Order: sequence, then C-alpha cells, then structure tokens
Amino acid sequence: MISFQEAQSILKKEFSNLNLETEQVDLVDSVGRILAEDIYSDINLPPFDNSAMDGIAIHFTPGRGEWKIVGEISAGKFSDVRIDDNSAVTIMTGARLPDRCDTVIPVEDIEIDDDHVSLQEGIRLVKGMNLRKQGNDLVKGKVALTGNTLLKPHHIAVAASCGQSKVNVYKRLRIGVLATGDELVDVDETPAGDKIRCSNLYSLLSAVQAMNMEPVNLGMAKDDKQLIYDRIKSGLDNNLDILITTGGVSVGKYDYVMEVHKKLGIDIKFWRVSIKPGKPVLFGVYNHDGKTTLVFGLPGNPVSCLVNFLVFAQENIYSLFDLDITQKIVATLDGDLKKEDSKRHFMRGFCTYADGKYRAEKIGSQSSGNLAEMGKANCLIVVEEDRTNPQKGELVECIMI
Ligand code: AMP
Ligand code: MG
Repeated sequence: MISFQEAQSILKKEFSNLNLETEQVDLVDSVGRILAEDIYSDINLPPFDNSAMDGIAIHFTPGRGEWKIVGEISAGKFSDVRIDDNSAVTIMTGARLPDRCDTVIPVEDIEIDDDHVSLQEGIRLVKGMNLRKQGNDLVKGKVALTGNTLLKPHHIAVAASCGQSKVNVYKRLRIGVLATGDELVDVDETPAGDKIRCSNLYSLLSAVQAMNMEPVNLGMAKDDKQLIYDRIKSGLDNNLDILITTGGVSVGKYDYVMEVHKKLGIDIKFWRVSIKPGKPVLFGVYNHDGKTTLVFGLPGNPVSCLVNFLVFAQENIYSLFDLDITQKIVATLDGDLKKEDSKRHFMRGFCTYADGKYRAEKIGSQSSGNLAEMGKANCLIVVEEDRTNPQKGELVECIMI
C-alpha cells in the first residue's frame, strides 16, 4: 500500500505522457473548452480614440465654460467636424473623436440651449476626461488570452474583439467507463432479489461530462474474466485516453480486474492507497501503437468510486491542462470528527459561509456504503494522515464538490 502523495506523484508522471491533441473550433463552440494557443490582438483595442460618455467633445481650455455646438458624431457615424476653442461637437458613447478634441463633458454636466452649451455650476473639468484612447485596452500584437485558459463567455468576448472566428483548443480526452459486477442492473430496472442498480456508470459518465471531456459508455459487465477482458480490450482498442472500471478490484474471490489488466499487458503502477474511502484503487498504463491509455480500477462502492475519481482522475486531468479550478477552502469545524487511523480521509461534509467565515460539518454517515447521504454533501473534508479526531473549532481543508 502506498501513500496518497506517492500515488499522486506516480499519477502526475504518467499523466504527463498523455498525448494532447488540438483542434480548431468555431468561437461560440469553444466555450467550456481549454485554449491551446495564445491569442493576440490583430488591432488596437479600441481601434481609435473615442468617447466614454454621451455629451460634448471639446478642446480643453482652462477656465472656459461655454461653447457653440458645430456638429454631431455618433458611434459608427464619424464626421470630421473641425472645432476651435469656442466650439464643441455633440458626441455619443463609442463615437470616434475628431482631431483637436481632447476632453468629453457628460450630458449630465451641461445645459444646452439650441446650439449654445454651458457648464453646470460646480462642475470641474479635467483635460482628457471621459476618453478611451486608441490601444488603451490592448495594444495591437499583444497577448489577449493565454493558452490553457478555460474558455468562458468573457474570454470569448476578448477573442471576438481580436478577430478570432475560430480558436485552437485541446481535444477532449476520451474517457471510457465500464462497471463490473454480477449484482448490477441498469437504472431503468427495478432490482429484484440480490441485485442493485448500477449508479457508478452514471456518476462517472456525468463527472466526465461535467469536466467537458468526452465520455465513452462501455456499459456493464458481469464478474466473468472473459467478459471483463473483452470489454476492457474493446475500450483499449477504441482510442481512449483514460479507461475507468468500477468494482472487482479488491481481494474478493470474484475480483478479476487486476488479473485481466495483467493479461492485457496493462502495466500496473499501483494498487491500494492509504486513503478512506477507496483503499483498493488500482492504476496502470497501457501503451499500444504509440498511444498511451491510463487505466483506473476504482472500487465498486459508489462513494469510494466517485471520491477516488475526483481526487485522483479529475485533479490530475485539470493539472495536465494547468487548470487550478477545484475550489478548496479552509473552514472551521462545527463538530468533532472521528478518525483514528493513519490514512488520509475524505469525509463527506457540508460547508457554509456566513459572517466572513467558512464552517464545515460532516454529513450524517461516513460509511462508504451510504450513497444517499453523499447526496447531501457539498464538500469533501480532508483529514490528513497524521491527524486524529479533529475537534470542533479546528481548521480543515474542504474540497468543494
Ligand atoms: P466491489 O468493489 O466489486 O467489491 O463492490 C463493492 C460494493 O460496491 C458492493 O456492495 C457492490 O455491490 C457495490 N457496487 C459495485 N459496483 C457498483 C455499481 N456500478 N453501482 C453501485 N454499486 C456498486
Ligand atoms: Mg464486485
């Protein structure tokens, strides 16, 4: 059995061998994807000096408070109005400034009488106010977005301003999920006798989807060596980056996953990690035709299965793309926790924020068999290896889920 940290360093090394490919996608379709290039601006932003307000544009002269309107310019309708110190041009937000105009006075600060404008009492003018200078937002040729940005609508806005109708993003990792177990029936069946519904297939496929990676449903397989072999083999032949099995990875008589992995030539990197829940987790690497597939054998227990996916697979997938997006917070415990061994625990908890402070408490049962209880949690409370029975009032790290 290895420690959590040892497992993570093995994972980090093996993940770095994954072959990341890229593809061009339409800008709108790139939302939620990970940028695989830096994006530069092909123009100055803004492209020209313009007004930040609706009002009048003037040439600033100290002490002057009255002007004669000699023209009007609105956004997209430039006209090269000539002004002198006595004249002004009516201008709208975003309208290009004509030569000599160096200051904009907002409409709220002036009184207009026909073509005569005067400054309201008490308004102080500053030369250059209410302008947006050419290139002030971004100078042509400068980096607007850096590679490995997880694209959200505000990034799309930036890319659009830089003239990118298509962007280069990383291809989604193809992640296959296979559930094993004689006892499993599908969700649309009512389990009879000693059967149970297969929840792992759905929790994992949805977890993959939530990461905006590509889930591949390999279905369910009975605890039969040949069946499991055939399903895993078909997954490995299906150009997967990551293959995840659930169940059959412990020391039970019908736990065949390890044996099948070995038969398939999967190089086992670790089996069993000193954590709770999910000790029997298995990890290996399959190399074939220059392609690397990382293989996780997660425990069948639904709580263990999902927690292990989150802390091992999801964390390392995000790191691979330099994404630091798992929200981790430090919270004050609202009650005592029971933990007496030297494993690292990930307890299901509920974290709240009030009066500038995060507080966390465990949800009812910490039995890894209690899936419904996990449905009430919003975080995993981390209790480190060397820590025992943390008490109410102590600080704990919480991984938001
Ligand atoms: P195993 O890891 O195969 O020993 O299974 C451990 C526990 O998890 C057993 O109680 C199984 O019935 C349960 N289990 C295994 N696979 C699944 C699954 N896909 N969905 C829900 N529970 C499962
Ligand atoms: Mg089993």
